[in-house]
Amino acid sequence: MTGALDALTARVYTVPTAMPETDGTAAWDATTVVTVTAEADGETGLGWSYTDPRAARIVAGVLGPLLTGSDPDDLAAIRHRMLAATRNMGATGVVASAISAVDIALWDLKARRLGRSVAGLIGRAHDAVPVYGSGGFTDYSDEHTAAELRGWLELGIQNVKIKIGASWGAHPVRDLERIALARRTVGDAVGLFVDANGGYSVGEAIRAERAFREYGVIWFEEPVSSDYPEQMARVRRAALADVAAGEYVWRPSDAAALVEAGAVACLQLDVTRCGGYSAWLEAAAYAGLHGLQVSGHCGQHLTVHVAAATPNARHLEYFVDHLRVDTALFDGLLPVVDGRLAPDPSVPGHGMRLAPRADRYRQEEDG
Ligand SMILES: [Mg+2]
Repeated sequence: MTGALDALTARVYTVPTAMPETDGTAAWDATTVVTVTAEADGETGLGWSYTDPRAARIVAGVLGPLLTGSDPDDLAAIRHRMLAATRNMGATGVVASAISAVDIALWDLKARRLGRSVAGLIGRAHDAVPVYGSGGFTDYSDEHTAAELRGWLELGIQNVKIKIGASWGAHPVRDLERIALARRTVGDAVGLFVDANGGYSVGEAIRAERAFREYGVIWFEEPVSSDYPEQMARVRRAALADVAAGEYVWRPSDAAALVEAGAVACLQLDVTRCGGYSAWLEAAAYAGLHGLQVSGHCGQHLTVHVAAATPNARHLEYFVDHLRVDTALFDGLLPVVDGRLAPDPSVPGHGMRLAPRADRYRQEEDG
């Protein structure tokens, strides 16, 4: 065993949605995934991010040349080197996505080479992590929304989330109708979450939260833009529901800004954006020191392996889009059992591989 990193390789895959999808502030009809494979000693680790194809160019042009030949087990040093090398590009957005995918691939590689699960290598905190069902796009028909919600209940899931705030909060009555529909569909015993994707102003968000108390909403995600933590803190102080955000934590300082402002009752983190498993662990520990739990944003099949090693992990978002995309591209996904995902401690790494069937979604813009 030489131990050196032999190669970092990025690939781009684009999987169309089944129908156009919208939330409070965006619309899309496909999801692009940039995968990273890391090779050493004949073993391969896999990471990925849901991002722009240009993240693959960051891997091929910057991070691969930077790290090839180095010791892939030195994850803390590698994280520092990746951040330093991208300083002048801005270590957010596609750069952060590329860094995240590389970090996850290296954790998977290290765990596989040691014959350990990712959670076992980090240090397990939970046998299983609860998930909440997430989709409920604003342009779904009521029938589709109800059918999706019933599907979550059939998996034993105890919390469900829908999107609200369509067209930047322009339709508050419709939002309330959809929340009422969701409550009718799932019954009183299931936790109801909503996500406005930053679509409201402070006043709109506070008025909306008061209106949907009647339906027992317990989680209000991005009531206002995450770019203004002080404004979000104003909503949080007025709300009964837990205000949550963190999907745009690209750098440690983004997590610090949300926590220090008192903006969130639970810090969300996305391992495919925040810097991978290494940055998740750092931010989750920081949140824990402030008495906060963390929740995984999207990318559930990757996130569960680090969340199982995170004492203050509350739950993971089980996102309908990423269920479909991950199923199309990868083998080794964990199934939901009794509303939870449970990593198998006997399976090395995170246990997932690119599936041969993924080739039909591959794009030309390889790094
Ligand atoms: Mg969200």
